[in-house]
Amino acid sequence: MRVDRRATLGLLASAPLALGAARATTAAPGNRTAIVIGAGIVGAAIAYELAKRGVAVTILERFKPAAGATGDSFAYLNASTKTGSRPYFQLNWLGMAGWRIWQQEAGPALPLQWGGATYWRDTEAESAKLSESLRIAQQWGYAGRGIDAAALQALLPRLAIGPVSAGAFFPEEGAVDPAGAVAALIARAAKLGVRLRAPVNVTSLLLRDGKVTGVRTPDGVIEADTVVLAAGLGSEVLAGQGGVRLPLTASPGALLHTAPQKQVLDRVVFGPRSTFKQLPDGRIVASISGHEGGAPNGVDVQAFGRIIQAAAASYLPTLRQAAIERVSVGQRVVPADSFPVVGFAPGVRGLYSAVTHSGVTLAPALGRLAALEIVDGIAADALDGFRPDRFA
Ligand SMILES: Cc1cc2nc3c(=O)[nH]c(=O)nc-3n(C[C@H](O)[C@H](O)[C@H](O)COP(=O)(O)OP(=O)(O)OC[C@H]3O[C@@H](n4cnc5c(N)ncnc54)[C@H](O)[C@@H]3O)c2cc1C
Repeated sequence: MRVDRRATLGLLASAPLALGAARATTAAPGNRTAIVIGAGIVGAAIAYELAKRGVAVTILERFKPAAGATGDSFAYLNASTKTGSRPYFQLNWLGMAGWRIWQQEAGPALPLQWGGATYWRDTEAESAKLSESLRIAQQWGYAGRGIDAAALQALLPRLAIGPVSAGAFFPEEGAVDPAGAVAALIARAAKLGVRLRAPVNVTSLLLRDGKVTGVRTPDGVIEADTVVLAAGLGSEVLAGQGGVRLPLTASPGALLHTAPQKQVLDRVVFGPRSTFKQLPDGRIVASISGHEGGAPNGVDVQAFGRIIQAAAASYLPTLRQAAIERVSVGQRVVPADSFPVVGFAPGVRGLYSAVTHSGVTLAPALGRLAALEIVDGIAADALDGFRPDRFA
């Protein structure tokens, strides 16, 4: 049986939103068990969705929840930056819809912000790129519109915007505090019986006759029907033990985190020089627009933090005095072709891979689809093209 991607999207959009208190809605046949390796946003999502389907889940995390890419993520929830591939765009859109459903389930425990995302550019070349991605997103039915300097200023009244040659607003996009979201999901999952064991390092997979039957840890062996590999950059080595190729690259990304500031912003800001958002607790998280790496060669990380601060302060002058709490250099989990690697691994029954970039946006979609595939034995059409066997 297969699930059609459009049907899944429609189902999610029309799903009953007020789901009330956390509870296992459908018992998995035969008291199924699963181990989820990794307590990042993807592992937390899959554990929660499996538990909602009645699976007895144990999460094994080698450090603490959100210790990997998740804790250092900008955590912008969007599909508008993914117009290069329609299936990938749709999957991200499904993720955004899933966050709204989780919000209905969990309420304010999930630190979400839905103020939309604002973009502007000040050169012709960059404006053309922005207009093109806006046009594609609109053609695919996504909420987004071109805006001029006056409309942008009305959306961002506290900012000094400067010259604008093109602007765009995506009103249905948002952001989340990623570590807070992991904590909230694990707390809800715990009410459904999910056990988090941390710190526990999974050292290897238990394999028997072409099937994974559990994992080895320094504390001993733990067995389960299904093992979900949501270990971010740690997934490649574990997959390799089962002969599964899962080529990943660590791609660094630097973010400045300020001390809490007076609330001035509920939208994500993408100016030509600086990208930033303000968390519900007032902290500003910022990066340099278009700079994907860590601190440039020869620049100390703290000094780079001050460069990020100066760029953000060019739009939000009060930031000049803000105390810097930390400058993080997180490692993005980037599969070899940049796309998610999700589904049962080829050649090892019971091993399910859930490894991706943009994992914060995607987490609710991956959680739901993984639960459908693991519990119901279907192959979700929304994951076509994102399967682990493409690297075999
Ligand atoms: C700077 C930066 C900005 C980003 N911006 C965005 C954004 O705006 N929007 C967006 O959607 N995404 C963004 N991302 C990407 C997103 O954060 C990641 O895709 C997502 O967090 C990945 O989550 P994960 O749970 O798969 O992996 P991780 O968060 O890395 O979690 C994996 C966990 O597995 C644990 N683990 C590893 N090996 C083992 C083992 N052997 N045994 C036990 N535990 C193990 C690790 O300790 C870790 O906690 C960004 C990432 C970075 C770094």
